[in-house]
Amino acid sequence: DAPGVIDYLSSLNDAQRRAVEHPPNSALQILAGPGSGKTRVLTSRVAHFILHHRILPQHICCVTFTNKAANEMRERLVKLVGPENTGRLVMGTFHALCAKYLRKYGQVIGLESNFSIVDTDAGKRLISNVLRNMQPQMMAANFQIKESEALSRISSLKAKGIDPESARMTGLATTDRWKDRWKVLMADIYAGYQDELKNSNSLDFDDLLVYGVSLFKAAPGILNSIKHILVDEFQDTNTMQYQLMMNFARASDAVSVVGDPDQSIYGWRAADVGNLDKMCKEFADTTQILLEENYRSTASILACSLAIVSQDDNRIDKGLRTSHPKGTLPVNRSFPDDRTESEFIATEVKRLIAYSGGMLTYNDVAVLLRYNALSRQVELALQKQGIPSRVLAGQKFFDRLEVKDLLAYLQLVDNPKYVPGFIRVINVPKRSIGDRSVEEIMKRAKQKGVSPMEVVEKIADGRWPDIKPSIKSKLREFVNVIQTLRKLACQKTPVADLLERLLELTKYEAYLTRTHQDAEMRWENVRELINSASQVDSEKAVAFGSPDLGSEKAVKDEVLDFGLDYYGEGSGHVAVSGIHESVADEEEDLLDEFDMRTIMAETPLRRFLESSMLATDTEVEDSDSREKVTIATCHAAKGLEWPVVFVPACEDGVFPFYRSDDKDEERRLLYVACTRAQVFLYLTHTQKRMVQGKSKEAEHSEYLTNAIKSNRNLFTAGQPTITYEDCKTISKIVNRMLPDRPVVEAKVAEYQMHPDRQRKPSMDGFSRDENRSPALDFTTGFGLALGKTW
Ligand code: ATP
Ligand code: MG
Repeated sequence: DAPGVIDYLSSLNDAQRRAVEHPPNSALQILAGPGSGKTRVLTSRVAHFILHHRILPQHICCVTFTNKAANEMRERLVKLVGPENTGRLVMGTFHALCAKYLRKYGQVIGLESNFSIVDTDAGKRLISNVLRNMQPQMMAANFQIKESEALSRISSLKAKGIDPESARMTGLATTDRWKDRWKVLMADIYAGYQDELKNSNSLDFDDLLVYGVSLFKAAPGILNSIKHILVDEFQDTNTMQYQLMMNFARASDAVSVVGDPDQSIYGWRAADVGNLDKMCKEFADTTQILLEENYRSTASILACSLAIVSQDDNRIDKGLRTSHPKGTLPVNRSFPDDRTESEFIATEVKRLIAYSGGMLTYNDVAVLLRYNALSRQVELALQKQGIPSRVLAGQKFFDRLEVKDLLAYLQLVDNPKYVPGFIRVINVPKRSIGDRSVEEIMKRAKQKGVSPMEVVEKIADGRWPDIKPSIKSKLREFVNVIQTLRKLACQKTPVADLLERLLELTKYEAYLTRTHQDAEMRWENVRELINSASQVDSEKAVAFGSPDLGSEKAVKDEVLDFGLDYYGEGSGHVAVSGIHESVADEEEDLLDEFDMRTIMAETPLRRFLESSMLATDTEVEDSDSREKVTIATCHAAKGLEWPVVFVPACEDGVFPFYRSDDKDEERRLLYVACTRAQVFLYLTHTQKRMVQGKSKEAEHSEYLTNAIKSNRNLFTAGQPTITYEDCKTISKIVNRMLPDRPVVEAKVAEYQMHPDRQRKPSMDGFSRDENRSPALDFTTGFGLALGKTW
């Protein structure tokens, strides 16, 4: 065995090791609770495939739930098996993988390689068009539907692989007269929406999966090189994703999945936990391995979490234990309103960090929310106390107005047929092209069966004499921007430069200042977008293609001569990579020898657009490296862990969320949130909460009330003081060195003497606690500082 092998195997327990060493050519299911090392086992299994079984990385496909998870897994694998082995691993979310294959091979099913990916916002623009056109039919049937509702219905049909035609057939087949009428109408709306997408040469997120499935059906050979597929978070896959997995797995029966039915939280997006059973039926010799030891949390956090999830009578108990110490009891506290609740969180964060004497930083803290809107108060309170925070999957970076404007421009540059982009930027910055003119352009586009961009280009060229000269010259300006950028993009200009040019041509900064009060902040986001573009620019540009240069060896020598990396021995394919900026002319000639079509599919612009459109969280690395508290939704926190976790708003109406009709799924969501915590967990609730502008009485979440009924000793209402024992627990679980004691003491003392604390005693978290007097806090703190309570 290679030397690396010992390292990753020796730290595993027996069950984990069995899972990792299970023969590669088999079907394997790892079913286990949170924190039991499922993701770790999956990663180690990939390493074992490569190092022990000598399986080529390009034969392994690893599917994660978010792009972030894929990046993390790749980073870990770089450490285990080295960068030379990770570069060619096929890795990503189902969506990202499909996008990649569709770009390269989409022609097989009639797609153009420069299709755009539309987000919900652009989707709304398209569907609103359809709804407008269908208004008469809808009126006649007495049927009304909102854009978002229509989109979500279409989305769940797509997730089940139902196309407009079959949706229509089911509609016609229903016996209920009222129902069949709206089902048929819905199918027509769905069909209209697909037409709009097609005219824009674009796919929505669900389409990526749907078209992926048809691509692999039409040309199964594309996946020949994939011999092993591994899927994380399998409990949250939908029907389409299951079919994709089957496509990948078909060739070899070599499929490993990990999952936890207790953590299935995407039923509302048509995920089907039944896929676990389905897989066992499809692969009759599926081996199931259970992992029962939790490595993440203290015993008391685990006990509290299990008391929540086990309220579900239909649940199958898997058995989950921990060998970690009991630790501090989770805190369960009530506050008059969300302002005091958030203030408590902020002061408590400060207090814990100060008392940990350098062991914990802001990075170790997360605030997990049922829904995004709850973040406002928390952000405010943290800000007030000078605590930096980052919002995971809050308002997505790529959802911001200014970012969207610029992306829409770039999309239009790449894909002239992209209607939502056209509509978005034709008048940004204001060019006084009125709604009437835009309507006229759209009308002519429809008449001629061309894109609005094409119409505008013709008008600018003077080929439509009946247009007013003033409008003509405005349009010419616009066309000039797009064409200049397109020329640059074809020359493979780095995206950061494209963006700079775009800002210059449109005088975007001046426009922001003119039209927005918070222009400065928005300009920051623009700069951030350029940063993220330069990051993509500097990533390795990889070109795949079949060499026409004679023997593979000849190619290899030539590639290496150019100082580029070479992979691909024996694969029949060649991949060349180099830093994009440094691709000089001779290298360009070399690349020309490869299949130009596939190389073209990989322009820097296209790679950038793809990564932006598929970003699921705030995946733009923020340029400031300060430590920050993470604010995230419970959904976005899946698979992650933090030493300190706060879950505010544990109230009826929030947990379970009033709009959800699946109380079991809501309970599992709270379970997912609690099981993210390693050492400190705070569940807080308020007596009053503002809901949609109105203040409402709030009841404690029934999940917590029930948990307390089952065991009165699960929670504490007081504030935990960090003891030396806690520090030891942290060091054990989080795997961190215990800080030097004099340093700890100095830190605590410094905190005690801090002028802020003396001037504003009510803000430091001590005296807010009803159970303690400030004096007592002070002495405890002081005692701590002197090492007495330790
Ligand atoms: P989730 O269901 O929340 O996704 P998981 O089952 O995927 O959890 P991991 O994230 O893989 O769990 O592991 C949880 C934590 O436990 C990680 O910090 C991991 O490094 C650690 N861990 C897992 N197995 C071991 C082990 N054998 N020894 C030490 N630490 C371990
Ligand atoms: Mg995991």
